[in-house]
Amino acid sequence: MPRDVFILRKNHFMQKEEVAEVTHNNKKTEEKKQLSRRSLLGGGLMICMTTVVPKKALAKSRTDGYIVQHTEREWSYILSGSQYNILREGGTERPNSSILEGEDRSGIFTCAGCQNSLFESDAKFHSGTGWPSFATCLLGVETDNVNPLQAGLLGKECRCKQCGGHLGDVFFDGKLFVNTPAFRSGRRYCIDGAALVFKPSDKSEDIVGDAAPEIGKKRGLSDFLQPPTIKTTERA
Ligand SMILES: [Zn+2]
Repeated sequence: MPRDVFILRKNHFMQKEEVAEVTHNNKKTEEKKQLSRRSLLGGGLMICMTTVVPKKALAKSRTDGYIVQHTEREWSYILSGSQYNILREGGTERPNSSILEGEDRSGIFTCAGCQNSLFESDAKFHSGTGWPSFATCLLGVETDNVNPLQAGLLGKECRCKQCGGHLGDVFFDGKLFVNTPAFRSGRRYCIDGAALVFKPSDKSEDIVGDAAPEIGKKRGLSDFLQPPTIKTTERA
């Protein structure tokens, strides 16, 4: 092939690649516009970002390579509607819609799809976002591998390592939450309560996270907004 023709074809190919890249980027921008920010109202201190629309089109397979396997039809029978939407379709619950956001007892938070242990109560804190938040996770949590910049700004998807179920996202803004375990870890796992089942240490009844919060339960300030403890010294 003459060199000129080769260069022409190569340039033509590159232009097509560039057009494809631009189209892809535009598509991604449109998809990002559909994302809903899990922001801290009033505080303006941090952003927790996730989708209110299924991430199915964006996400890698939630089936390939995972130990627990079911067909989507089977999952739809095993899980409730909201559990299926989150775990299998990558959806997001409304803030303050899960009973587990206010759960403060000692215990383990497990996967609603396969009972895999995911988070400990010691790592839980009240972020003010309306979603159950944790500073650290157990080995049962898988974090999607994305580039560090994207992870820093937009968060990384968290999944159950056994069944591939979508749990929420992890953000690297833990330092914003002083007086919480997230300040020490530097991380904030922003999790959909409906993806979890809480197993109390006292062996009392499991709490399924797709249940609504108790009506009338008073909400206090988030942990990191609590006033500092004032130490008083006794006078002799
Ligand atoms: Zn699972």
